[in-house]
Amino acid sequence: MGCVLLFADAARADKIVLKNGRKIIAYNVVEDGDKVRYETSAGQLALPKSIVDHIEKGGLMPMMGSPAAAAASLNLEPPEPAATAVDMEIDKGAVHDGSVDRNYINSLENGAAAGGEKAVQAARAHRAASRFEMFKGDLDRALTDARSAVSYAPEDPAVLMELAYVYLRRSEFKQSLEYLERAKRYAPKSPDVYKLEGWTYYGLNRPDQAVAEWRKSLALRPDSEVQAALDKALRDKNEEENYRENESTHFQLKYNGAAEPGLAREVLHTLEGHYQQIESELNFSPPDPIGVVLYTQEAFADITRAPGWVGALNDGRIRVPVQGLSGVDSELSRILRHELTHSFIQQKTHGRAPTWVQEGVAQWMEGKRSDENAAALVQVYDAGQAAPLGLLEGSWMRLPGPMATYAYAWALANVEYIVQTQGMGDIERILDRLAGGTATEQSVREVLHDNYEDLMQATAEYLKKNYVR
Ligand SMILES: [Zn+2]
Repeated sequence: MGCVLLFADAARADKIVLKNGRKIIAYNVVEDGDKVRYETSAGQLALPKSIVDHIEKGGLMPMMGSPAAAAASLNLEPPEPAATAVDMEIDKGAVHDGSVDRNYINSLENGAAAGGEKAVQAARAHRAASRFEMFKGDLDRALTDARSAVSYAPEDPAVLMELAYVYLRRSEFKQSLEYLERAKRYAPKSPDVYKLEGWTYYGLNRPDQAVAEWRKSLALRPDSEVQAALDKALRDKNEEENYRENESTHFQLKYNGAAEPGLAREVLHTLEGHYQQIESELNFSPPDPIGVVLYTQEAFADITRAPGWVGALNDGRIRVPVQGLSGVDSELSRILRHELTHSFIQQKTHGRAPTWVQEGVAQWMEGKRSDENAAALVQVYDAGQAAPLGLLEGSWMRLPGPMATYAYAWALANVEYIVQTQGMGDIERILDRLAGGTATEQSVREVLHDNYEDLMQATAEYLKKNYVR
């Protein structure tokens, strides 16, 4: 068991199951009148209680320690520029009775292509729809509407900021920055632009720039939310000032002063090589820089029985103990590749990949195959004792040692079967569906035309055929 996908600052999380079958992993779920309010890595959201089937308590909240999650936990309110009476009329036309009125929006879009007043109104209507979808928790629809709004009013700072805000909620910080920079051209004195830019830089793991932007915002308008965010960023900065830094195209690496600078450079070089390969295999480029921390600390050394490492962690940043190492050996290279795969999947799916998919693909990418475990896995399957994949979706942190070893092997076997018989393209398509918010078994069914039962059976047959004599 090389790695634990560690949910480091793990907190209790609940699962909200909607009547349409969609599941939302949420944190701090509270019922509030006719709403269910909750937090996710995309920020605080609310759902109408009428669409919720039930709430499952328990489980661990993934990724609370990641920079993206830390950024999401800021929870800054969206900007509310002054609205005219006409604006409010359009808002009411676009969203009423608990849903978006697409006919109304279409009617405003007629003739809007030519620009002018019609286009301004169509943009406003899409903005209202986007805001509604965002608070309902459907960030994909929110994004589509916010983008439509920008297409009708590409120079309206309020519309540009709304799109930037949706990207922030999705933890897509680079895209957010692009639209904030555009908004700034038309509204250089808007405190909201700097407020959101600070949040974006914070999510991009650039606390110095976050601090600078929030100071600009506060100079234009006092805001307790911004003040609190600024204080938090200043605390983070102090904490990490003892670390030295190194940067490459896709990585930001920090290491304790005691580590070898040569090792740090070699780690970056190795990671860049792996990055290119994983990028082409998964057909995806993570939009945000990936943080890496090398450790030599006493505490980590105790666990890792120096010299060398025993495990590594990925809680949004790749954390690798390198006690006693002066160069990258094949073992460390393999671990870096495994952890980097987690970062790719995390960014590609906006944190929605279940553990069995994460660990299965990460092991496949690091080069592990099922050979040594195949016979035991088949035996367990034939005895009717195989762990249902549904049970392996959540955190594995509480599994006892032998069970965890089995979970890793079984996850790899299922992923290996998919890759070897259907190709990596099917993994990519499953990840795409997860990114869009589809539940895992449903994603598997749409891509492979198999449910979990079928997949497990096919995997057991694959193992028998290829490994068990
Ligand atoms: Zn892992």
